[in-house]
Amino acid sequence: MVEATGTTAPAEGVRYKRVLLKVSGEALMGQRDYGLDPEMVNRIASEVKAVIALGVQVCLVIGGGNIFRGVKGAASGMERASADYIGMLATVMNALSMQSALERMGVSTRVQSAIPMSTVCEPYIRRRAVRHMEKGRVVIFAAGTGNPFFTTDTAAALRASEMGCDGLLKGTQVDGVYTADPKKDPTAQHYERLTYMDVLTKELQVMDASAIALSRENHIPILVFSIHTPGAFAEVMQGRGKHTIITEERE
Ligand code: UDP
Repeated sequence: MVEATGTTAPAEGVRYKRVLLKVSGEALMGQRDYGLDPEMVNRIASEVKAVIALGVQVCLVIGGGNIFRGVKGAASGMERASADYIGMLATVMNALSMQSALERMGVSTRVQSAIPMSTVCEPYIRRRAVRHMEKGRVVIFAAGTGNPFFTTDTAAALRASEMGCDGLLKGTQVDGVYTADPKKDPTAQHYERLTYMDVLTKELQVMDASAIALSRENHIPILVFSIHTPGAFAEVMQGRGKHTIITEERE
């Protein structure tokens, strides 16, 4: 099993000791309209493995939008809280598939769910999760925050704060934050650095406002990069590659 070096220092040139990677459920869909593309799950797992090999402790939050979104369920007449619980259960399915992909590659993992389901995975226990990470295991946090009316972005900022992460990585469809959607607007400009306030006041589509506010309060830099560029996650860990970094100050 591949494990990060735990309490020893990360490899030379690596700027982070412990990070949380947030991947949306949609990233696991690949070219499909729904569900999981095993090839995509494997690709993302190999990105995580590369970062573990650098000696960085990694935990993950995976969304559920590839299977179910509470807002959509509510729009079709379902009670919002129930719809959100279905969404949270969707994230558990994604977490289990990521666990399976990582373990097949020899990476040691644990899934911890905010909604206890003891026959499937561990319940979320903060100190236990920290211990797993110190031992170099990848902890995958499932079921979001465990509360309806929240998102997995907020869950990612919450868990990153609880775990004492020094970086919150958001793996997206594009290589950072732009002035507009670069897939629709060819004049869109890439931001190298932004402040939390910039994201909130310019209403940039990075993460929802509560996730930004929580990261800001806990001084956790947010790094936005493309989950589709092979090797990008490891490069960002070394301060290289194209990405956007969001902190309190612009410099
Ligand atoms: N969800 C929730 N509470 C949480 C996290 C998620 O109720 O703390 C539900 C919500 O319905 C959401 C769904 O789970 O629509 C899937 O999560 P999200 O939309 O954040 O996934 P992503 O967009 O990242 O794939």
